[in-house]
Amino acid sequence: HIAFCPHGPDDGCDCRKPLPGLIHQIEDALKVSAEGAWIVGDSIRDLEAGAAAGCKTALVRTGKGEKSEYKLTSHPTLADAPVFEDLATFVDWLIAQQP
Ligand SMILES: [Zn+2]
Repeated sequence: HIAFCPHGPDDGCDCRKPLPGLIHQIEDALKVSAEGAWIVGDSIRDLEAGAAAGCKTALVRTGKGEKSEYKLTSHPTLADAPVFEDLATFVDWLIAQQP
């Protein structure tokens, strides 16, 4: 499923990150809960949206990720989120976690 927010910052929608509405749209479309799922993003807003929906959070250094990593270290609730070079590195790590 592909979901995106078509709104601007002044539109007052609930799907623009860091609000979790986009994740709730995905939950509705797939009829699953995102709670406990991973959200992987390159921005703090991505992780905040995921955390608000009960997701585990990971940051990647690609895109805006390197700038975000600097902010992440002082974030009040996300500072412990793991950081990966890119999405492939995250996936390799996640697969290695499986029993
Ligand atoms: Zn929106």
